[in-house]
Amino acid sequence: MRFTLLIFLWFVSTAAIDNASYAGGVAIVPLLGVSSEQPPIAFMEDRRVRIEKLPSGEWAAIVGIALGAKPKETKYIGYHTIEGKTEITSFRIGEKSYPTQRLTIDARMEALDEKTIARVVKERQIVKEAIGKFSEDIRGDLQMSLPLIAPISSRFGLRRIINKTPRNPHGGTDLAAPKNTPIKAPSGGYVALFGEHFYCGRFVLLNHGEGLFTLYCHLEKHNVSDGKRVKTGDVIGYVGATGRVTGAHLHWSAALNGAWFDPLLLVGSENVAKLAP
Ligand SMILES: [Zn+2]
Repeated sequence: MRFTLLIFLWFVSTAAIDNASYAGGVAIVPLLGVSSEQPPIAFMEDRRVRIEKLPSGEWAAIVGIALGAKPKETKYIGYHTIEGKTEITSFRIGEKSYPTQRLTIDARMEALDEKTIARVVKERQIVKEAIGKFSEDIRGDLQMSLPLIAPISSRFGLRRIINKTPRNPHGGTDLAAPKNTPIKAPSGGYVALFGEHFYCGRFVLLNHGEGLFTLYCHLEKHNVSDGKRVKTGDVIGYVGATGRVTGAHLHWSAALNGAWFDPLLLVGSENVAKLAP
């Protein structure tokens, strides 16, 4: 009985995620020729990548694609089976266009002093290192629930041009929830990092295992401790307006194999519909 239930959950968890093989997406790449019940070990650009079993029974690599990836580029995935075979497969990055927003703001508000720039560089490095890890001691579900329900106020991938200067595209989805709205873990994992950074404000980074992470920014307060295990639905913090923001909201982001992608790709269309502006 228990066995049947587990198989069913596995099926549900993979079936709801569509292949999104473009910059800022998640590619599902079948690893052909693996007949074993044991998952193969797969790499892309020397980085371990997450493996899932597809409803068809095939194994697949689940690969995050960075926003800076070029369309039509071919990516290669090498994999080792437990029988000792080594295979290579590839996929092409598709086209995806994100909207552009032009803003003019007071230049004095924008300028950062040298000390702040050094702080920002250091904080980026800390987060980059954290999301580059591949942990095998935990495996949270790839199919996620919503951390909260609120209208989307800014979409992932939005290209912002401020005072005619292009900025980094938006690396998360903003949800316009009021201050102190509880934020719930969307999948199991543990606390990889938390603290207060210049842009992100008070934040929590969850490690869901096998290279999958989710990030929560601008919190009023955290509800976590270092390395704390969380399960789906646990409150990890509360919405706020800390960091570089104009008002209270949750900036929610996800990363796989070190690449930031849109977390809404993991929640299913029914959940996305609950966030209509
Ligand atoms: Zn944001």
